Amino acid sequence: MSYVYDLSMQSRAEKRTKASKRIGSSIRKDAIHPADYNRYKLPYACEDCSHFKSENESCTLGMPTEQHLRRNQKRSYELSGKVALCRLQEID
Ligand code: SF4
Repeated sequence: MSYVYDLSMQSRAEKRTKASKRIGSSIRKDAIHPADYNRYKLPYACEDCSHFKSENESCTLGMPTEQHLRRNQKRSYELSGKVALCRLQEID
């Protein structure tokens, strides 16, 4: 193992340490213009999706629904102007 190789491995370890200290949301939220939010009936919640099972508020694809439930989406939009759109949502 060469000296140069050791240095490069060390810098990767340092980068990993710096990356692990970053604090951020684990889910990406998208902004919706307030005019569009008020004008259109946007299907942004699990309740609008074909994969939603209302009996136990679960997803037939096994995705976590908590962030996408209408009550949480509305709350998120009122606080930040953003909602967590599900990329697997299907609408009949
Ligand atoms: S696919 Fe996405 S929007 Fe549809 S029920 Fe599952 S988590 Fe909710």
